[in-house]
Amino acid sequence: MSNWSSGLINILKDPSKHIIASNLAVVIKDLYPKAKHHYLVLPLADIPTIFQLTADHLSLMEELYLLALNIIEVKKEDLNNFQIGFHNQPSMQRLHMHVISRDFVSDCLKTKKHWNSFNTRLFLPYEEVCQQLKINGKIKPLTKVELQELTKEDLQCNQCSFKPKNMPLLKEHLNSHLK
Ligand code: AMP
Ligand code: ZN
Repeated sequence: MSNWSSGLINILKDPSKHIIASNLAVVIKDLYPKAKHHYLVLPLADIPTIFQLTADHLSLMEELYLLALNIIEVKKEDLNNFQIGFHNQPSMQRLHMHVISRDFVSDCLKTKKHWNSFNTRLFLPYEEVCQQLKINGKIKPLTKVELQELTKEDLQCNQCSFKPKNMPLLKEHLNSHLK
């Protein structure tokens, strides 16, 4: 496989890129980090996206979460400064859990779509994924209209009530929240 969306699958085959590995999953660095810390946790099992998950995967979800906690600990960071979960509209194949710091200070964070993918309902926290699997046995996809509306939603700072008019203003503002 060589197309762009299978890039993560190729990384799974390259142990030099694995920061942490268990017999079920690996942690890698996101190649285009959208914050100071941004990692991906991928299962070895061939699960393309969250939409193939069932209640049988709940123990695998726990394993992915443990690896997420592990990388935060290894980096000597504080769990409270991180969000852990999945995109409702993934672009890359192979299920991947985002482990991302809440500063969102990064040159790779460029577009409103980037921001909203982590800071609206487009981001499904780990706990919500587990809850949906327990209750419904699957993840309910958002409708096309919901996806479009959330992608275009007005910018809103994740740390205060500021509503910046555009991405350059948001990025400047996020810098001001850095301690
Ligand atoms: P998603 O929107 O959930 O599918 O996110 C895919 C993530 O994979 C994004 O955060 C990208 O920055 C990241 N990414 C894309 N290509 C690579 C790669 N070759 N290695 C590591 N991360 C990648
Ligand atoms: Zn703010």
